[in-house]
Amino acid sequence: MLHHSPLIATIVAGLVAAFFMGAIAHRLRIAPIAGYLAAGVLVGPFTPGFVADVALANELAELGVILLMFGVGLHFSLRDLLSVRHIAVPGALIQIAVATMLGLALTSWLGWSLAAGLVFGLALSVASTVVLLRAMQARDLLETERGRIAVGWLIVEDLAMVIALVLLPPLAELIDGGGASGGSDIAATIGVTLLKVCGFIAFMLIVGRRIIPLALHWVAHTGSRELFRLAVLAIALGVAFGAASVFDVSFALGAFFAGMILGETQLSRRAAEETLPLRDAFAVLFFVSVGMLFDPSVIAQQPLSLLVTVAIIILGKSAAAFAIVRAFGHSTRTAVTIAASLAQIGEFSFILAGLGTDLGILPDAGRDLILAGAILSIFVNPVVFTAAAGRIARARQDAIDEADAIERERERERREHVVLIGYGRVGRLFAEGARQSGRALVIIEDQPDVMERARNDGFTIVHGNAASIRTLREAGIAEAAKLVIAIPEGYEAGVIAQRARKANADLTIFARAHSDEEVAHLQRHGADHVVMGEREIARRLIAMLARSREAPG
Ligand code: AMP
Repeated sequence: MLHHSPLIATIVAGLVAAFFMGAIAHRLRIAPIAGYLAAGVLVGPFTPGFVADVALANELAELGVILLMFGVGLHFSLRDLLSVRHIAVPGALIQIAVATMLGLALTSWLGWSLAAGLVFGLALSVASTVVLLRAMQARDLLETERGRIAVGWLIVEDLAMVIALVLLPPLAELIDGGGASGGSDIAATIGVTLLKVCGFIAFMLIVGRRIIPLALHWVAHTGSRELFRLAVLAIALGVAFGAASVFDVSFALGAFFAGMILGETQLSRRAAEETLPLRDAFAVLFFVSVGMLFDPSVIAQQPLSLLVTVAIIILGKSAAAFAIVRAFGHSTRTAVTIAASLAQIGEFSFILAGLGTDLGILPDAGRDLILAGAILSIFVNPVVFTAAAGRIARARQDAIDEADAIERERERERREHVVLIGYGRVGRLFAEGARQSGRALVIIEDQPDVMERARNDGFTIVHGNAASIRTLREAGIAEAAKLVIAIPEGYEAGVIAQRARKANADLTIFARAHSDEEVAHLQRHGADHVVMGEREIARRLIAMLARSREAPG
């Protein structure tokens, strides 16, 4: 039966194995990515037992890349992208050159041809979109300047790879002695590729920018949630696919532009929410698919080369990135974050390696090294990030002492204040009321655009997810008198209430709910007063009805 449904088998095996291994990783307190990669190794062809379809898993992983890049695009404006070009363009290009050179050095030592060395070096020079974005998201860094530089850097690498991929076949021909016209052939190929990329961008900015928001607006006004969800998915996947098949650019780039165009509309937040669950599921499948490619025998066959490959990816690339970012005048903190986020390789490297071996440029050993290097670098990436955080902490020790003093002062001011979570429909009205009654208020909000609005309205804001104790502490929860949780998700509010209560036993907690189950859940988790929105609406409607009877006409 399984042989008749390889797609279902691959999805099920991938997700189930990832769930179990992810849960084990969670219990062992290691990064979930390590669990997903291990799940991939388990269902991969190099370990006994069930073997999922590698090609299908790779295609499913592409969906993860598309949805992730679409999500990033939603939070990115063209202005953001252009604002980091001064560092992202030279930074990415210099780093690609350095990593390629290091790869070439290794392969010349191994006695491979120049072309093989070039492909190998290039494969080591590009970071994985999924790994970078997941790492940034997990640490809430995407909306920061560091995050923007990293995404800009990623896009330049992506474009460089699009060019490298189209150049590889003519290059292979040239190496095979395919005629004197090789040089001009290559120039023409580069020209055509650049033209296509520009064509795609122009098309999106001129045509897409008009049609896509219009279509989504129309769908939003039909009032059908299902249709809206479908429309968002159709736009993300449709544009990515169209971009790849018509303009030959990568899926990721297509999806990024689709997201960026939608990001300019009012509907971007809803669009982001609708794609979230699918995005996470497919991003997990990405890691599983990487794990599947791992052949443990490489470790025994080429241990030294593998060690050097991993060192190039983790140390060589990040040292180059660090030096470049510092040379451009950015802080150590920014440089360390960018360096850590790029200290891995992924999907583009696999594609390059695959094409390289198909064309007979790259020996099989090269592909194996790239695959093993990728999985090892992705596996240790969370550790690299943690080490980077330590480095940042040391670099900022002096600044921290000063910041501590300011923080203590602020805390004194904040004592007995109200912490409000969420500045949406409910939170906004509450905040206005609190201001009028002269209460000191600190607002926690996790959506950057909403946060900006609250700041413009003159409130004290802490940016972040209130479910994190760090964010709650930053808002001075330990010294606060009251907590108002004005978010629509009752169960998430339960987690927040529980953590806040733990940090401050005297706190009075008010919460908002939308069902009786949520009310009970919130009360169990430490909320003192819970308002059920729907019940209040019904009460008010009944009162209005009664009044309209009393006053006929
Ligand atoms: P509304 O449902 O319109 O009142 O909006 C709720 C607001 O709460 C939105 O602006 C959300 O971004 C915000 N929000 C939801 N969950 C959290 C959370 N865990 N931490 C901080 N803000 C949140």
